[in-house]
Amino acid sequence: MSLAAHFGRGDAMRVLMLNRIRQGARISRNRKPKTTKMTETTQKETYSFQTEVGRLLQIVTDSLYSNREVFLRELISNASDACDKLRHAALTAPNLTEGDPEFRITLVADKDAGTLTISDNGIGMSHDELLETLGTIARSGVEAFLDKLGEEDRGNVKLIGQFGVGFYSAFMVASRVDVLTKKAGDDNAWLWSSDGKGEFTIEPGQRDGRGTTITLHLKDDAREYAEDIRIKTIVKTYSDHISFPIRLGEETLNEASALWTRPARDITADQYKEFYHHTAHAFDEPWLTIHNQVEGLISYTNLLFVPSMRPFDLFDPERKSHVKLYVNRVFITGDTQGLLPPYLRFLRGIVDSEDLSLNVSREMLQTDPKLAKIKSSLTKKVLSELKKKAEADADAYASFWKEFGAVLKEGLVDDFSSREKLLELCRFRTTAEADLVSLSDYAGRMKDGQDAIYYMAGTDADKMVHSPHLEGFKAKGVEVLLLEDAVDEFWLRHITQFDGKDFKSVTQGSANLDNIKGSDESDADKPEQDDTDISQLIAHFKATLGENVQDVRPSKRLTDSPVCLVAADGGMDVNLERLLRQTGQLNALSTRVLEINPDHAMVRKLTERAAAEGAADDEILRDAAYLLLDQARIADGEEPVDPAAFGRRMAAVMTRAV
Ligand code: ADP
Ligand code: MG
Repeated sequence: MSLAAHFGRGDAMRVLMLNRIRQGARISRNRKPKTTKMTETTQKETYSFQTEVGRLLQIVTDSLYSNREVFLRELISNASDACDKLRHAALTAPNLTEGDPEFRITLVADKDAGTLTISDNGIGMSHDELLETLGTIARSGVEAFLDKLGEEDRGNVKLIGQFGVGFYSAFMVASRVDVLTKKAGDDNAWLWSSDGKGEFTIEPGQRDGRGTTITLHLKDDAREYAEDIRIKTIVKTYSDHISFPIRLGEETLNEASALWTRPARDITADQYKEFYHHTAHAFDEPWLTIHNQVEGLISYTNLLFVPSMRPFDLFDPERKSHVKLYVNRVFITGDTQGLLPPYLRFLRGIVDSEDLSLNVSREMLQTDPKLAKIKSSLTKKVLSELKKKAEADADAYASFWKEFGAVLKEGLVDDFSSREKLLELCRFRTTAEADLVSLSDYAGRMKDGQDAIYYMAGTDADKMVHSPHLEGFKAKGVEVLLLEDAVDEFWLRHITQFDGKDFKSVTQGSANLDNIKGSDESDADKPEQDDTDISQLIAHFKATLGENVQDVRPSKRLTDSPVCLVAADGGMDVNLERLLRQTGQLNALSTRVLEINPDHAMVRKLTERAAAEGAADDEILRDAAYLLLDQARIADGEEPVDPAAFGRRMAAVMTRAV
């Protein structure tokens, strides 16, 4: 069967994931205000928070978040994003920044009033944007996150920290939050206000110039955040990397230069981490940081991070790239298609190049041949850094592999030119040891006479280990790869060899283990069972089972179990067929080959019965044929051919036995 008949090349995973529930918040459009109070000059609207926000706020305010100072990092991060957005918009509409071209973030603390304000002259928000963004959560994975929190400890601070609550973290320290904002280019300003208890209001406001001012009315136990010294320390700790000046009074608190433009030796691990948190909207530790400047035909700087935890949207079909593109330090876009291949979509960070044009549209940029060059150079760099890490620290690499291996393996299908490198990076569970194994490890310890790399594909390696199909391999000490990811079935259609050795499924085709010198040599000395001995039994089974099996034959792969089912040579592997049925692309199970273990005590007895006179009418033989087929199906996780008949036969056989 050609895979292309089912999937377009490279689309395999995306098709497979189609039936995954799309994660992410639903944004209700055209929301109507709950109440509208009208007077001559003001018009105040009251809205309820989207349910998810309500749940999130409850968690935020209830949890004694030990590290609540991070609210400031979040608000500064948003202010910086707003400046980035406007700077990009002003490339094509320079009038937007007229009269006030210098971006900045300004903090004002009022100890007596117990307030802290964070102002920016970024892009600001219109009435509708305020309503859509500060009342909902437009981030994928919110529901999944909240459900996870629901199951576990409500106050699971670590998880909250990892998810990051963004703007809503303001309510950890404030009993009321006011957001006064004016969108660049608009005439009207709006005031959003809430105590974080389920509702918020929006009304017309007064603001000189564009941008956003957030006023926090600090809770009594949070008044420390109105003290200059405290604010300075927090900004230094979390926000030093922000490229716009952050001012408190006359003082600028940060370096105010883009972090990636500084030499790597001057940047601390903490600064990298904080930059990662800001730019990726992520809250775990970066597992790997790749910062380098490339000079040549095309010059660019990349500061990329591999997260240590799977982002929520890793398998979201509508996920975006999360590597931001800058041209000469001006932010262009957060979701550049074509900057990195989809199988590296777990990467976060930025790429900045002077050689791309500032003034082209995002769409044109995506087809720019220079971007393609950057892509191939970045891909090489990332794969070589992963390789270094894999060689330097196998345990750390294993933890990366558990999170992102399934995604990286998509590259085996998608990216022909990187196959060799990707195969080197792959790690597998096997029957031989608990640690993950590379293909060269495997090849290095293949048995004498073993000419194939054996694998078993399924969904759960812990169950696969006990499968009857593996018995003969175990007895000979032949290692078998246990493949658990859906994507494995797809790359194995494209890559048939490693190091000159074929990949071979243990559930497909005939297994000839005779040529392999097993670790247990006494085993090899065992006299060959003569196949003709059971030819009558086989003929009987074939006649009885008819269409239900493709063939019946003696097995070389079984040692303990009496039977197992395998796909015919050239037939579709059992697990692939299961996957295709799950995605609705196949409905009927194809018939399989029933393999019988001639050495099994029960099979020996049946062999004798089949040789005896009157075997054609032997009811026990008939029942046994069906029962053994059903047993093999059940071991594969399938239903018996006919569950009711299975029950009847089972009862009949047991009645005779007791
Ligand atoms: P995130 O930053 O991950 O998008 P946040 O909860 O921090 O999530 O912010 C939600 C949204 O509110 C932002 O995406 C942005 O659209 C808007 N926003 C927040 N602060 C500002 C600001 N200072 N200026 C303009 N828009 C803002
Ligand atoms: Mg934010």
